[in-house]
Amino acid sequence: MLNLVLFGPPGAGKGTQSAKLIEKYKLSHISTGDMFRMHISNDTELGKRVKQILADGMLVPDSITIEMLEEEVQRNPEAKGFIFDGFPRTVAQAEALDVFLEGKGEGINGVVQLDVNQEEIKHRIAERQKVSGRADDDADKLLKRIDEYFSKTIHVLPYYEAQNKVTKVNGIGDIEEIFNNVCNAIDLLK
Ligand code: ADP
Repeated sequence: MLNLVLFGPPGAGKGTQSAKLIEKYKLSHISTGDMFRMHISNDTELGKRVKQILADGMLVPDSITIEMLEEEVQRNPEAKGFIFDGFPRTVAQAEALDVFLEGKGEGINGVVQLDVNQEEIKHRIAERQKVSGRADDDADKLLKRIDEYFSKTIHVLPYYEAQNKVTKVNGIGDIEEIFNNVCNAIDLLK
């Protein structure tokens, strides 16, 4: 299996690059943000529980997120590997993912960090909101999400750096060029 974590702040381009990567490497894409939004639009029990949390730009509690992610992995026994997009977002999630994958005789092969500065993120999300209509793309909610990123999610990096798994890729520039650099990083892992 080839299991990758795509890491970066909100608006880093994780979704865009994931879509291209699953095509090329035939991996299964798991975006916890997309999954939560799907639950909310289908008005499931889980959707009802997390709706306000997402709207506020806060992180969903680890226990809920980890359970949802593990179920999704279990639902895809035929997968050649996974791209984890938007997960793990806390060190507890990263630890849980390692334990879970180890239990299956698997692990994370590598982490690609999309490097984008705060100014660019704010600009991109302001543009995205014009078309996405995502409530959490609102300026004040975005600040909350950036805050969650720098207070909690950023600590996931040293966790994986200690395992020598992180490759940093410049996330600013042409989408194809970024994609090439991401692919080069992945090809070194294979
Ligand atoms: P973005 O990367 O643009 O911030 P996502 O679509 O990845 O957005 O996530 C949207 C929201 O879903 C987050 O702000 C958070 O509320 C929730 N969420 C997604 N993934 C996680 C996670 N791994 N842990 C906790 N909350 C999450």
